[in-house]
Amino acid sequence: MHSDAKPDTILTHAGRSPQSNYGVVNPPVLHASTILFPTIEKMRETDLTPLEGTRYGRIGTPTSQAFESAVAALEGAAGAVSFPSGLSAITSTLLAFLQTGDHMLMVDTVYGPTRKFCGSLLRRIGVDVTYYDPMIGTGIDALVQPNTKIIYLESPGSLTFEMQDIPAIAEVARRRGCISIIDNTWATPLFCRPLQLGVDISLHAATKYIVGHSDAMLGVVCCSAETYPQVKARAVELGAAAGPDDLYFGQRGLRSLGARLRQHQAAGLQIADWLAGRPEVTRVIHPALPSHPGHALWKRDYTGASSLFAFELKPVPDAAVNALLNSLTYFGMGYSWGGYESLLIPADHIPRTVSAPVLSGPLLRIHIGLEDTGDLIADLEQGLERLKS
Ligand SMILES: *Cc1c(COP(=O)(O)O)cnc(C)c1O
Repeated sequence: MHSDAKPDTILTHAGRSPQSNYGVVNPPVLHASTILFPTIEKMRETDLTPLEGTRYGRIGTPTSQAFESAVAALEGAAGAVSFPSGLSAITSTLLAFLQTGDHMLMVDTVYGPTRKFCGSLLRRIGVDVTYYDPMIGTGIDALVQPNTKIIYLESPGSLTFEMQDIPAIAEVARRRGCISIIDNTWATPLFCRPLQLGVDISLHAATKYIVGHSDAMLGVVCCSAETYPQVKARAVELGAAAGPDDLYFGQRGLRSLGARLRQHQAAGLQIADWLAGRPEVTRVIHPALPSHPGHALWKRDYTGASSLFAFELKPVPDAAVNALLNSLTYFGMGYSWGGYESLLIPADHIPRTVSAPVLSGPLLRIHIGLEDTGDLIADLEQGLERLKS
């Protein structure tokens, strides 16, 4: 691959080398625990680089390295580390840098289980967490304390989709000596490359769009050269190793990520526009709509939008919302997103400390899959009709 290869070319060529594998297009899936050394000298040699190469299944195999190198190339990262889930990627990365007495600035709109980890294990080990408004921008400077180790971002915000000023916050982190970490799952490495915006670490629940088929759990952390060794070391220390089949699903998902995401994007926007025109809907919260308060930031820092967004209904009783949800044929109800299938769930548990959203009616979170958009609109249309009954 040439060094100036564009994202779609990276997606198709990174992390594979047919000529070192009988010409087979895709790399093999290596199921490995024990790795044998030909001589005792070779075995001892690997002690010098305990986190590199292949020594033992948990530490890394060509299967994990293929996936990691492809994602790192896409993000423009010095290195990437894979994990058995997105949450494992997050908690291990936080534990790579935090210790008792440290302080972390955490965005208030963070993914729920990340917030839970802050309130449970991090609190137990004596890490102090301050939640900040996602729209704070450079104002975050005033919240940095002498012991602030990490500034954590997630953009757009979980459930409510606020956009963060990523370069502004990354600049403050750099200037104040903090590590910046962003959960970039929504955009994927294709639509946002936070390391190019000054962030130190960009992590993903690859479970979502990267795997893309709702059939594997996988996480990946893309690191700057300075942060990679610590993340890799902690992953090995915690024993957080993704399974070979899941890594393969992740790698295979990358091959079609560009095509899938462009269709997700177009379909998501079409349905967002349609919903915005419906009398039952108060507002559609989608960063790529000009009506979104963070639209200018999205336009500046992102090259596309995925198909997860929210919309608020006019005030109606819970029973009416339940009737809508239970009437749908193509929209499933389930956690997760990023697969080929559409989903619709109520977003009625929105934990916030400093930035509670102002809502006048029920909020729903929608994921647009790869179905025909006419079919999806017809399904939603008959569902919205049920609100009246
Ligand atoms: C799903 C999700 C995670 C966690 O990923 P898992 O693979 O489910 O553990 C983290 N962050 C975001 C934004 C997510 O949507």
